[in-house]
Amino acid sequence: MSEKYLVQPDLAYIDELEGLGADTLKKCFQCATCSVACPIAPEDSPFPRKEMIAASWGLKDKLQCSGDIWLCHECGDCSDLCPRGARPGDVLSAIRYSAIKEYSQPKFLANAVEDPKKLPLLIAIPGLWFALLAFITMTAGETMTKIFHTIGIEWSHGGHGIAQANFFSTWFVDLTFIPLSICVAVVFGLSLKRFVIDIHENAVAEGKTDKKTIDIKALLQALVSIIPVVLKHDKFNECEANQDRATAHMMVLYSFIGLAVVTGIFCVVLYVFHIPGPYSQLNPVKWLGNISGAALVIGSLLMIKNRLAKKDQVSAYKDWYILGVVLSLGLTGLLTEMTRLAGYAEVTYFLYWLHLIAIFNLFAFLPFSKMAHLVYRTTAMAYAEYGNRK
Ligand code: SF4
Ligand code: SF4
Repeated sequence: MSEKYLVQPDLAYIDELEGLGADTLKKCFQCATCSVACPIAPEDSPFPRKEMIAASWGLKDKLQCSGDIWLCHECGDCSDLCPRGARPGDVLSAIRYSAIKEYSQPKFLANAVEDPKKLPLLIAIPGLWFALLAFITMTAGETMTKIFHTIGIEWSHGGHGIAQANFFSTWFVDLTFIPLSICVAVVFGLSLKRFVIDIHENAVAEGKTDKKTIDIKALLQALVSIIPVVLKHDKFNECEANQDRATAHMMVLYSFIGLAVVTGIFCVVLYVFHIPGPYSQLNPVKWLGNISGAALVIGSLLMIKNRLAKKDQVSAYKDWYILGVVLSLGLTGLLTEMTRLAGYAEVTYFLYWLHLIAIFNLFAFLPFSKMAHLVYRTTAMAYAEYGNRK
């Protein structure tokens, strides 16, 4: 059955998409080659041709609550085969980023992350904050040690020799990132609630499901069932022309998982067993951290190389921002470790300051940056599984 579109063109939305790298969308003459070429589009109402039509009409409401835009894995196969050079893969990427901005709150942060002129501010704010923490740690360390000692808390977790905690108190670092993580989780939770309701209402309106309400338990079961698909990048691997992108993508994903595991273990070691770092290089958890850090650097460099090599693919600021943050995170982390081992204390502390700024940018702006696609896509894949949309 053909779909009915309520046509309410939004010219500002078309301009926004063009600014996000979809400047070719009007070249589409609706031949449907892309939908045939896409290896992962469902047979029932495949993408991305219908999204190209909707985008050229500026149908913002229809596109932003579509679960299908998130099923695309941005492999670029369709763009390679489009006879008009309309680059549907890039258009879908722009639509997704616009949806991230739409769902995330507060809006001023979403706008700041998208605006290259605001980049110095995004670096300066955490930069000044961590410089202040370093100043307090260095100048008031002894006083703080005494005050905390009287209430039975160990203030400095720094070991002997060069230790990051001697420059940035572990307490300060944790008291920055723990509340920040909670805020990010709340923002994501509220955004995802609206997102799931919208894609469900859209699916009902388009006749893709006959379930009027969402069965949360079944949706969570679907979420659990698609986690192996996400971890193995099964969908990404179904793409053909650009399979090399899957390798870089997997390296970055697994390095984040590895670093999260390492951080969790060392938190337990520090706060439960009261053993401060730095930890021995012979420690297997340390190996995991070093391997994950190296994989993060290599994976992000491969992503940058792939982008630079694809002359026909548009890379907007949103793409470079997140790649820059990920690469900075990996590089500063590895260099902090290497200079610490080499005994260059000042260089180590400076690199660790840069590392903290990179972590802050990754965490604080996660709901607003392109990285949010991990959460939205996983949710949309779970909804597709729940709705039996194969
Ligand atoms: S984007 Fe390209 S391949 Fe897809 S329908 Fe338009 S012209 Fe055809
Ligand atoms: S970029 Fe890849 S996954 Fe996305 S629509 Fe095109 S072919 Fe399909």
